[in-house]
Amino acid sequence: MRTIQRLPLPLSNQIAAGEVIERPASVVKELLENSLDADARSIRIEVRDGGKNIRITDDGTGISPEDAPLAFERFATSKLKSFDDLYQLETMGFRGEALASIAAVARVDLTTRRRESEEGTKIRIDEGGMKISPCGCPEGTTIFVQDLFYGTPARLKFLKSPATENANIQDTVIALALANPTVGFSLTVQDREVLNTFGCRNLKDAACALFNEGKKLVFVEASDDLIRIEGLCSPPDLFRADRQKQWFFINGRWIRHPAIQKAAESCYLGQIPSNRFPFLILSLRLDPERLDVNVHPNKREVRMNTPQGLFSLVKEAVAQAIYSKKLLDGAEIRLEAEEKKFERPPLSDWRPERKKEIFENFSTSERLPERKFESFESFSAPDRLPERKNEKAENLPWEEMKLLGQLHKTYLLLEHPLGLYLIDQHNSHERVIFEDLAPAALERQELLLPIFLRLDALQMARLEEEKDLFFDLGFEIEKSENLEYLVRCAPAILPYSEIEGTIFELIGGEGGGMGQEERWRAQIACKAAIKAGETLSMERMGQLLARLKNCPQPLTCPHGRPTGFLLSLGELHRRVLR
Ligand code: ADP
Ligand code: MG
Repeated sequence: MRTIQRLPLPLSNQIAAGEVIERPASVVKELLENSLDADARSIRIEVRDGGKNIRITDDGTGISPEDAPLAFERFATSKLKSFDDLYQLETMGFRGEALASIAAVARVDLTTRRRESEEGTKIRIDEGGMKISPCGCPEGTTIFVQDLFYGTPARLKFLKSPATENANIQDTVIALALANPTVGFSLTVQDREVLNTFGCRNLKDAACALFNEGKKLVFVEASDDLIRIEGLCSPPDLFRADRQKQWFFINGRWIRHPAIQKAAESCYLGQIPSNRFPFLILSLRLDPERLDVNVHPNKREVRMNTPQGLFSLVKEAVAQAIYSKKLLDGAEIRLEAEEKKFERPPLSDWRPERKKEIFENFSTSERLPERKFESFESFSAPDRLPERKNEKAENLPWEEMKLLGQLHKTYLLLEHPLGLYLIDQHNSHERVIFEDLAPAALERQELLLPIFLRLDALQMARLEEEKDLFFDLGFEIEKSENLEYLVRCAPAILPYSEIEGTIFELIGGEGGGMGQEERWRAQIACKAAIKAGETLSMERMGQLLARLKNCPQPLTCPHGRPTGFLLSLGELHRRVLR
């Protein structure tokens, strides 16, 4: 008896789809890449039901009536004809798998018209198969993906809450918008517009349209015979507690690349607190022949023949961006110790021929060891950062500092061997609480009066999804009969009046991903911390300092803001013209 059977086509397509289409954000990525390959200038993305329904409309070339049905066949593509083409690729797609995969796991409507055709084409694919008809429609292509994963309940189960899936979609759109700043991207979620880049002139404009911090980012630019690097990065006074605002592109492809990331981050060593990360948007262009993009269906990993000097060029580009920003900014208040490490040449000395020397100066002992990359190397090759030796720079001469008092109910004033040290009472208390919320130190308070929460469906889903994390952070929240939730326990440090607001804030924010626990701890700390405007007794200030001193990173709050700063004696003397 035969036991080996060929899988029926729909089933094999569904299995293949699993590789390309993992979640709603993968649908969005594939469809957007198709629109970009079709030279769209403007793309509208509409999302409903946590990405189970997605409609993408572009003004690209459109598909001819003859080609339209082929588009849904597996390994049918207009972009690749021979194996050698794979190494000349200028398009995002080439496998011809995306539309087939999407149609295997959702109902799809496509309407499309090429400019030169009078009539458009409409295709509907569902359980009943494919229906094709002529139709009137604008130039370009609209694809409407409905009831994603309706036929594959196992996949449906793996979907996170709508809020999380929406956030993933948003990340994808942001990345593609940054890679294509001159194309207009608009994203609406349940009819609410969440972003729109309007097709900007350049990356900076696009970044400003996407982020509040956009204005502060500085230009990165460098090139040699083989590579061109362009992008934006944060000045040293702008940094984050996670790496969520970092994007790397090679030839327009959004990639993961730990080695490039580390090269870029190394420029910030000693400039921003450790465990803090810069905002980075780096776009590299190099000869497509050096890239092998055919590695993973999601194509976030690419293999490349790394040109010599790639990493030093990245470092040079970022260092120069930060450095010229510093020169322009003029005086900054920094710790005296750090000042010595970074000797700033006078402005007039900023001449190209001095560039090399300045960079030498710039990173001192914390330079990355030069490494030669000769061969075909996978991106995951670890490129280790040197250990930070000078951890002491992270701390203050606590024993020699004397508390003088409170200023404007906001700052603690301390005498410091090198001048006057000001500590922000809110930021520093935030740091202290953040450490108190660590699992080992966490204290819970049982609420005498439980708090009732009235949640909408989305909030409920998010709460259920994050139940474990809530518990780990000291909350006990249970469902009561009438669809309400009861908070029975909360972190001891959180004032009663802040509990409800904090929970709403946590479930309303961006979810999932790396560092979520840290983010939540930081948010709770912010709610629980002493605010500006509160009078503190000398005793309370003493307690705060004693606890701050013992924190592993006393110099910044968990969001990366400084807890304090030094007004040096030199500065004070200058003020009185001594
Ligand atoms: P690939 O992008 O790898 O070629 P897809 O399955 O994503 O494979 O798409 C199949 C083909 O359908 C593409 O090669 C392209 O010719 C056509 N196509 C898909 N989407 C669009 C679009 N938005 N505009 C124009 N043509 C499209
Ligand atoms: Mg494609």
